[in-house]
Formats: sequence, structure tokens, C-alpha cells
Amino acid sequence: MKEIKVCSSCSLRLPLDSFNRATKYKDGRQHKCRECNKKYQKEWYLHNIDKRKAEVLEYRKNNPDKVKSWRKKINQTPKMKEYFRIYQLNYRKLHPDRVRATEAKRNQSDSRKHSFRLKEYRRRGAVGSHSLEEWLDKLNKYGHTCVYCDLQATTRDHKIPLIRGGTNFIENIVPACFSCNSSKGAKTDGEFISWLKK
Ligand SMILES: [Zn+2]
Ligand SMILES: [Zn+2]
Repeated sequence: MKEIKVCSSCSLRLPLDSFNRATKYKDGRQHKCRECNKKYQKEWYLHNIDKRKAEVLEYRKNNPDKVKSWRKKINQTPKMKEYFRIYQLNYRKLHPDRVRATEAKRNQSDSRKHSFRLKEYRRRGAVGSHSLEEWLDKLNKYGHTCVYCDLQATTRDHKIPLIRGGTNFIENIVPACFSCNSSKGAKTDGEFISWLKK
């Protein structure tokens, strides 16, 4: 005769093999039947996932800087870069009008910034000039990277400073990060590079 056991949860009388094995009990089986056990585990998981989610949200709220640097790191992984690339491609296909509008806006603000900079250089007595296209070409040529370090270049550096008779022609201009550009001051590019090596 098959052994019968009563489930502690649903109270059904079931054959012993309807209960999971558990060595810690006398009869070597769990108190709950397989079905009840499954249900119980699912509920436990659902209950705890909410708790865990709440904990994660709380942590994120209290550590915004950590989350930011963590995101940055994740976004730099090849997998995420590929994801962004594909996302961008799809976005371009789905919303060509939005993309065009953003680009027009960016170009407009680029050219406004450019003429603002040129005006500033002229005010400082600079000889010569360069076009926005020449500057953008230069940026692309250097991969938008500072010529003195590896940071992103956001500023124009005059290899020979204006104050020492350097011109504002594109030949005298290289992309530099804000930090290098500020520490370079009135040094020439050569002087700055040897100053960096000290
Ligand atoms: Zn049961
Ligand atoms: Zn730099």
C-alpha cells in the first residue's frame, strides 16, 4: 500500500511522492505538498521582490553620485554602446523630422557661439580669423580629444597665445579641454608640454 501524508497547507491526503524530499523531517518529506510549496515560494518571491525593489529605490535616492558614476561605467561598456548606436539609428529612422529640428537648432547655436568667440578674439586684438567649418574639421580630426591630455576637448587653444602675437587662423588653433586650456595660460604649446612633463 502507498504511504499517504496530509498536507499541512491544503489538508489533502496525498501519496508521499507528492511531497518534496527534506532530510530534516522524520519521514524525509516536507510538510507542504509540491503544489502548495510552489505557491508558497512564488508568494515569498513576490513579497520579497517588492521589498528588494523598495530598498534599491531608497539606495538610489540617497546615493545619486554613486548611481551617476555607475551609470556612466555601464554606458561605456561595448554592449551598451552598441545598444545606444542601434537606438540612435532607429530613432533617426522613426523621427527624421525631430532629428532635423535638433540638428538645425544645434547648428544655429554653434554658429552663434562661434561668432561670439570670434568677436571676443577680435576684442583682444587677434589677427586673422577662421570659419566654424574649419574649427569643426579640426575637432573631428582630433576626435574631439584634447591635444594635451585624453579628456574631451571643448575649447579652442591658440598654440601661440594671442597675447604673444599668435593669430586666430586655424593653423594656430588646436582642440583642448577646459582644464588644460586654463593651466596653459600664456605658454606656447611647446612650453606647456614641457611644463606638463616636469
Ligand atoms: Zn497542499
Ligand atoms: Zn586636456
